[in-house]
Amino acid sequence: AKKRGRGSLSFFSAEMDQLAQERLMLEGALRLAIQSGQLHLQYQPQVALESGELYGVEALARWTHPVLGTISPARFIPLAEECGLIADLGLWAIREACRQLSAWRAKGLAVPAISVNLSPTSFHNLALPQMVADTLRLHRLDAKDLTLELTENILLDTNPYTMKTISALSEQGIRLSMDDFGTGYSSLSYLRRLPVSELKLDQSFVADLEQDPAARALSNAILGIGQSLRLTVVAEGVETDGQTRILRAQGYPVAQGYLFSRPLSPQDMETWMTSALPT
Ligand code: C2E
Ligand code: CA
Ligand code: CA
Ligand code: CA
Repeated sequence: AKKRGRGSLSFFSAEMDQLAQERLMLEGALRLAIQSGQLHLQYQPQVALESGELYGVEALARWTHPVLGTISPARFIPLAEECGLIADLGLWAIREACRQLSAWRAKGLAVPAISVNLSPTSFHNLALPQMVADTLRLHRLDAKDLTLELTENILLDTNPYTMKTISALSEQGIRLSMDDFGTGYSSLSYLRRLPVSELKLDQSFVADLEQDPAARALSNAILGIGQSLRLTVVAEGVETDGQTRILRAQGYPVAQGYLFSRPLSPQDMETWMTSALPT
């Protein structure tokens, strides 16, 4: 057993070595990507179900590596978190999204608001509210033009600054949105303590709406929670007419998903707005 143990140990560490090396390589590449403009944002429309009008757009990060090609956020966001780059990435996303919103408006495109995803770590920075305010001022935007999406795991975060930062952002008039609602930290009492103005029904509920009565019951209950707290509830991951019919019947005000549009480049967003929206 001892002999085998040794053998598998060295095999195992060679494999670990390769993983560690790959990670180190990706880390360096990501650091460079943030500095050199390899990262960009795509934008996915959020549609008001009753009027068909645009409610807002969500900015989603993309990394196109010159050799490795497109690397999905499912891969590079955790990497950015592990190697201490996530706060930089969050600031970059806020600045880039605000710049884009302002550029669209300068062209006469009526984009009502923009949402940016932030990891819990971004809220450790007490200077974030001021940086956001400076960015908004630079681009002549209002606080209500920007929504910051956070996830329920922000509540597992014990950093002493998190709540201060969130309160300051909210007092500035920045809207906060609880992403992937219903999948994370399960106590609802935090909804009283966090100044959110929007909930996003997680796409796993939406995916099962047509087959699963329990998913329908939960989406209905989540809408009820949102409405009773005067929050806007956005259904995400909407792919079919059947799902839309159910959500509309339940009273969902806003939906987002491939049925309306995939995440788009700024240019494709302009085209989508002029062709897919009611005039
Ligand atoms: P998320 O914030 O929950 O974003 C929704 C994800 O679902 C996006 O994947 C979007 O492209 C995808 N999606 C949209 N509509 C549909 C649909 O109808 N069906 C299906 N199956 N999927 C749909 P994406 O862009 O790959 O992003 C994955 C996750 O990475 C995001 O989940 C978010 O948690 C994270 N992420 C993306 N950009 C950023 C960023 O700038 N900062 C941070 N911290 N996280 C980001
Ligand atoms: Ca999101
Ligand atoms: Ca989500
Ligand atoms: Ca998600």
